[in-house]
Amino acid sequence: MVCPVECFYEGEMMLYIHPDECIDCEACVPECPVDAIFLADNVPEEWKEYIKINAEMAPQCPKITEKKKPLCEA
Ligand code: SF4
Repeated sequence: MVCPVECFYEGEMMLYIHPDECIDCEACVPECPVDAIFLADNVPEEWKEYIKINAEMAPQCPKITEKKKPLCEA
């Protein structure tokens, strides 16, 4: 897993990043196979609602510490 602080959480439909744990290192950004990760300041307007969704959902989901196949390919 590329994240140095292991702040990814696995939901049924997507992974979530816990905003209180993320240190904005950007290591995950080029690793995402579907280009779906942005630093908060760079989130495109149409995806901004996901900032709140990540904050709400990450604490409710189990932590993921190993790289898996993308959900769209699983
Ligand atoms: S930017 Fe990505 S790799 Fe870095 S701490 Fe945040 S979630 Fe983890």
